[in-house]
Amino acid sequence: MDIRPFPAQTDDRRTLGSYWEVSVPQPRQDRKLHGNALFDVAVIGAGFAGLSAALRLAEMGISVCVLEAEHVGFGASGRNGGFCCLGGTKLDARQLVNRFGLEEARKFLAFQVAGINLVAQRLDSWGVDADRHSKGEMLLAHRAKDVADLKSEAEFLKANFGIRTRFLSREELFEQGYGGPSFHGGLHVPYGFALNPMAYVQALADRLRRAGGKIFGKTPVGSIDRDTDRWRLETKNGYVRAKKVVLAGNGYSDETVPAWLHGRTMPVMSSIQVTRPLSETELAEQGWTSDTMAADTRILLHYFRLLPDKRFLFGTRGGINEDASSIKAMQKRARADFESMFPSWANVRSEFSWHGHICIARTLTPFVGEVPGLDGVYAAMGWHGSGVAMASISGEKLAGLISGKLRQEDLPAALQRPFTRFPIPALRKLYLQGAYWLYGLKDR
Ligand SMILES: Cc1cc2nc3c(=O)[nH]c(=O)nc-3n(C[C@H](O)[C@H](O)[C@H](O)COP(=O)(O)OP(=O)(O)OC[C@H]3O[C@@H](n4cnc5c(N)ncnc54)[C@H](O)[C@@H]3O)c2cc1C
Repeated sequence: MDIRPFPAQTDDRRTLGSYWEVSVPQPRQDRKLHGNALFDVAVIGAGFAGLSAALRLAEMGISVCVLEAEHVGFGASGRNGGFCCLGGTKLDARQLVNRFGLEEARKFLAFQVAGINLVAQRLDSWGVDADRHSKGEMLLAHRAKDVADLKSEAEFLKANFGIRTRFLSREELFEQGYGGPSFHGGLHVPYGFALNPMAYVQALADRLRRAGGKIFGKTPVGSIDRDTDRWRLETKNGYVRAKKVVLAGNGYSDETVPAWLHGRTMPVMSSIQVTRPLSETELAEQGWTSDTMAADTRILLHYFRLLPDKRFLFGTRGGINEDASSIKAMQKRARADFESMFPSWANVRSEFSWHGHICIARTLTPFVGEVPGLDGVYAAMGWHGSGVAMASISGEKLAGLISGKLRQEDLPAALQRPFTRFPIPALRKLYLQGAYWLYGLKDR
C-alpha cells in the first residue's frame, strides 16, 4: 500500500494521526457555508450515518445538505478499525431476546446483516475496493473458562437465529494462523468483512456530491431553532433553513444542539495502533497469519487484524479524558496489552496511533427516528462502537422515514427507543470510571 505524507494541519484541516489518512488520497475540501441557504433537509455530521441519509434523500430528488464541523470522516467514520460487522448494541443475543422477544431480536439481527450487505453492495456498485479482506469475524476466548460460553453462544445463535458459527479449539487456532498465548478457543461468525473506513466514507461523500447533495465543511452548527415553518440551523458565517433536520453527530455531538441531546449519550474512547509492516518470518514466529478480523471476549475488548500490507492493527476500548496525558496513558496501556497478547512482536514499533469517540446510550441500543417533541428533527446515533454497517443502513432507513416511504414501526423495535437521560448527567465520567473498574475485574 502506498503511504502518503500526512495532510498538512491548517486552519481548514485537522489531522487525526491515523493510518487511514495516509493510505487514501487526500480528501476533497468542502467549502464552508457562507451566507444563508434553503434546503428540504439539513443533516448534521458527515460520517456514515449522515452521509447515508443524505445520499438516499438526494437520490430521491430531495434537496439536502450536510453540515460538518470539520471535514468528511473527521469523526469516528474516518478513525475506526474498519470492521464491517454485526453489532450496534451493547446487548448480546440473549439479552436482545429477553428485552424485545425472539421475533424482534431476529428482525434486529437481520437488519445488522443487511447493513453489512449494504456496505458491500455499495462498494461493489461504485467500483471501490477499499482494501477489503476477511470473510467473517473470529471471536477469541481470552480465558479458558470463556470457551464454554463461546460454545453455548454458538448453540444459541444456531437454535434461535439459524446462524452457523464454527468453533476452533486452541490447537486449531494455532493451525489456522490465529496464534497467541492468550487465545483458548475461537468462534468464527460468518458475517462481515474488513475495509479501509476512510476510503469508504470518502466514496460515500463522493456519491452524495454526484447525486446533487451539498456538503459544507468547517461548518459547525451552533444551534437549531424553530423559524416559522422551518428549522433554522445557525453556523458561524450564515444559517440554513430546512423543513427537516437529521442529527448524526454520534460521539462527536454537541449536547446543546439541540438541548434534547443533553445527558442522553455517553461519549467513550477507543484507540488504535498500527505497526510497521511485518515480515513473513515475524508473522510465522507469532503464528498469526490469518487476515480474518478478530476480537477477544473481554467486555473492554481488544480488536485486531492483519492489514493487506501486513501491518497489524490493534484496537482497545477504554479511556475517559481526552487531554494529552490521558491519551498518552491510554496508548501506553494499549501497547502493553498488544505486547502481552502478541509477545513475538514486542519489539515491533507502532507507527500510527490515534483515538476517537464512540457513543453509548443508556438504553444500550441505537435510536433511529423522530426526536420526541421536536417535529421534523430526526436522529440516527448510538452505535456502541459498531457503526460501519449499522450507521450506514440506519442512515439510509432514516431517509425512508423522512420521505414517508417507511414508517417508524417498520424498523426493528431495538432502534425505536428514544434515548433516555442519564441520571445526573454531570456524573457520567464517574459512572464510566466505575464501569471500567468493574469490567476490569470481570475481564480478569
Ligand atoms: C477508534 C474507533 C474504532 C472503531 N472501530 C469500529 C469498527 O471496527 N467497526 C465498527 O463497526 N465501528 C467501529 N467504530 C465505531 C464507528 O466508527 C462509528 O460508530 C461510526 O463511524 C459512527 O458514524 P456516524 O456517522 O454516526 O458518526 P461520526 O463518524 O462520528 O460522524 C459524526 C460527525 O458529526 C460532526 N458533528 C458533530 N456535531 C456537529 C455539529 N454541531 N455541527 C457540525 N458537525 C457536527 C463531527 O465533526 C463528525 O464528523 C469505531 C470507533 C472508534 C472511535
